[in-house]
Amino acid sequence: MKALVLEDIGKLEYKEVETSEPKKGEALVRVMAAGICGSDIPRAYRDGAHNMPLIIGHEFAGIVEKVGEGVSSDLTGKRVGVFPLIPCGCCGPCRNRQYEMCRSYSYLGSRRDGGFAQFVTVPVWNLIELPSNVSYEAVAMLEPMAVAVHAIRRIFDHQEISTDSCIAVCGLGTIGTLLVMFLLEKGYKNLLVIGNKEFQKKTMLDLGISGNNYCDSGKENAHDFIMEHTKENGADVFFECVGSNEVARLAVDCAAPAGSVCFVGNPHSDMTFEKNVYWKILRNQLRVTGTWNSSFLGADATDDDWHYVLSRLESGSIHPEKLITQRFKLDEIYKGFEIMRDKTEDYVKVMCVMDLS
Ligand SMILES: [Zn+2]
Ligand SMILES: [Zn+2]
Repeated sequence: MKALVLEDIGKLEYKEVETSEPKKGEALVRVMAAGICGSDIPRAYRDGAHNMPLIIGHEFAGIVEKVGEGVSSDLTGKRVGVFPLIPCGCCGPCRNRQYEMCRSYSYLGSRRDGGFAQFVTVPVWNLIELPSNVSYEAVAMLEPMAVAVHAIRRIFDHQEISTDSCIAVCGLGTIGTLLVMFLLEKGYKNLLVIGNKEFQKKTMLDLGISGNNYCDSGKENAHDFIMEHTKENGADVFFECVGSNEVARLAVDCAAPAGSVCFVGNPHSDMTFEKNVYWKILRNQLRVTGTWNSSFLGADATDDDWHYVLSRLESGSIHPEKLITQRFKLDEIYKGFEIMRDKTEDYVKVMCVMDLS
């Protein structure tokens, strides 16, 4: 089969490799669409993967081509999405079915071969069957969408948030953008979104955010923007989707009394708070929450992030395909990596599509 192989740091090669056989409890999936994650860029060009050579890619969807020992052949031909984390099944978090915090997991596309290939072997537990009206491209975005939903549920599952609450989202990469999409889908209209690129503003307007509720932090003071819009009260919920010290501070500083802050962005550096900002966590009795990955409880579950997203895709209440900015076939997907590395074009989601017509 053909695959995009990370041979070594900075060395992505499109080449012929042997198709692996599904082992016991596994299925061989024919990949139909695979998205490039922001994390794939440092993985490919700076940090490398845990084992190399490795086929990277953890956001993908496809069709079951064949199954290994102990797996019902009924699965063959089924359209599937793939939860990329393979939990150990025996650590503390796994025993609580909080697989996203597994202490000893494997991972498709970073620890074992992933989706930028014609085929990939996947444990059957990780498959989620797809409704017929949902496209492979949309399903290839299940993983980042589930990550966004997980962040929302970290707040909303623990606290009553009325639909007129003010919710701020700062940082409009893929996850921040998807967060806004799911908040709008949930009926939250009073959103304040902060980006720093002209095309981010355009994306937000397309999603239904009014120009008044958008702040370009390169041109405007984000703190003043939030305080003015909330009559100096602050945001009831603040999603920090950048991972910078500056925005982490902004989030705490601009959260309303008894408000919540959710840290979503991976940190770029050490995080430090000035004393007067730190005070606000105490005096405003803020709920400060971290979020990581997404919840998946197996194909038959209903109450996990993956099924939450899939139900919205099936009902047509979200349209993530709108966020796909570039499409390439597998032999040219390296171009998508280069666009994201060099930032030569605006992008939200770059997608590898197997038959691009
Ligand atoms: Zn990812
Ligand atoms: Zn575990």
